[in-house]
Amino acid sequence: ITPIHVIGGGLAGSEAAWQIASRGVPVVLHEMRPVRMTPAHKTEGLAELVCSNSFRSDDAESNAVGLLHQEMRALGSLIMAKGDAHQVPAGGALAVDRDGFSRAVSQALAGHPLVTIAREEIAGLPPADWDSVIVATGPLTSPALAEAVRALTGEGELAFFDAIAPIVYRDSIDMSVAWAQSRYDKAGPGGTGADYLNCPMTREEYEAFVDALLAGEKTDFREWEKDTPYFDGCLPVEVMAERGRETLRYGPMKPVGLTNPHKPDERPYAVVQLRQDNALGTLFNMVGFQTKLKYAEQTRIFRMIPGLENAEFARLGGLHRNTFIHSPRLLDGTLRLKAEPRLRFAGQITGCEGYVESAAIGLLAGRFAAAERLGEALNPPPATTALGALVNHITGGHIATIDGGPQSYQPMNINFGLFPPLDTAPKGTDGRRLRGKDKAVAKKKALTDRARTDLAAWLDGRDRQAAE
Ligand code: FAD
Repeated sequence: ITPIHVIGGGLAGSEAAWQIASRGVPVVLHEMRPVRMTPAHKTEGLAELVCSNSFRSDDAESNAVGLLHQEMRALGSLIMAKGDAHQVPAGGALAVDRDGFSRAVSQALAGHPLVTIAREEIAGLPPADWDSVIVATGPLTSPALAEAVRALTGEGELAFFDAIAPIVYRDSIDMSVAWAQSRYDKAGPGGTGADYLNCPMTREEYEAFVDALLAGEKTDFREWEKDTPYFDGCLPVEVMAERGRETLRYGPMKPVGLTNPHKPDERPYAVVQLRQDNALGTLFNMVGFQTKLKYAEQTRIFRMIPGLENAEFARLGGLHRNTFIHSPRLLDGTLRLKAEPRLRFAGQITGCEGYVESAAIGLLAGRFAAAERLGEALNPPPATTALGALVNHITGGHIATIDGGPQSYQPMNINFGLFPPLDTAPKGTDGRRLRGKDKAVAKKKALTDRARTDLAAWLDGRDRQAAE
């Protein structure tokens, strides 16, 4: 069988290559690191996590990304298998030891007899004799390839910002001030209910901190970054502070669900949370503290946080560009470029947002490409599933517009807003209409139950097709 080529060995490309090889089809995975690095990657490992070490909520009953985890596991996801194998405690979230995780993904692919890994940059459109290619080069696609894609699609790339939060060595945190506790003592997979480190602030300390953030020296924008809007889910901490003095207290620094054991009678005015970043538990990242403050300013200002006066930083925060195409217009329902169907796109470059979402789209792209190579039909999963909702959003299937997609297309995490609404509103056990929180909980449960039923039916149908 002629191999399929996957460009980019990140979250999406690694998953795509695995799915292809698992279907018995040979695959060549082209990864440019370490020959050429991106501005954010630090290693040559496949599926390197460039920022947070969290795959977010693992709750498949009431959280859309938790449901996506569950569906990917059901489809034999390599990223989920290795994420599960290398998880670190993180409350209700699935967080992983980044090095162990990346190493395990790299080893699994390198050890597969149908996978060839080529360490090279594909610096332009792939050769014409590659008849099936998945482009999974991510938000930091190398400029030469990005330019070739832009020339081919005529769409260009759109830049905005994601951000890196600083990482602190745990033994430099003053535990006579900070304490370990997950919000509302929630214990997730492998967690204890005390997975976060919390640094409390009084009102005076908070006000002084906000002042420092506002006055702190920021890195200058480069010329090409000037008109770029921020991605709202990933605002730099100082930009949040600029939006209002209370914004942080209602955002990443909210003091709810936490009790300071050092001062049980005193409710903190604000709290900075740090989350475990590696399996050893020696590194903790500052949750929500992505920033474009200058390095020296970060060290000075973040040491104002009680408990972090002597903090040592393993990594300081930063900002990066993102590259993605206008997928709803450009791609068909199986992620093929309409203008050149031998090319599929997967991962963040399609405009999905997040590690899990990128891997999920890699999973589907790999399966679509393998099915095509094997001469099998493979329909996308139903839009009522998390996988289906996500790919439907990307390929524009959710909106019937004349030009094949919405005008304004912005990156999106998986969320319940992408799912088709329920036919009937869930009712209480007494048959009465639910209200408020009960209604929201029941709705999420009904949406995820429907997704499980529909995914099972899709898998059954696919198995039947294969048997016939
Ligand atoms: P990547 O994982 O980046 O993989 C793309 C791969 O392609 C890379 O290995 C790269 O070296 C390679 N490549 C690029 N060009 C070429 C070429 N021409 N030839 C060969 N190889 C090439 N998501 C989260 O869920 N949580 C976060 O905390 C988070 N933080 C982020 C921080 C930053 C700075 C950025 C940029 C993104 C962040 N994201 C985060 C978003 C996104 O989830 C990740 O970027 C994710 O890695 C995307 O997966 P991907 O497979 O699409 O791309």
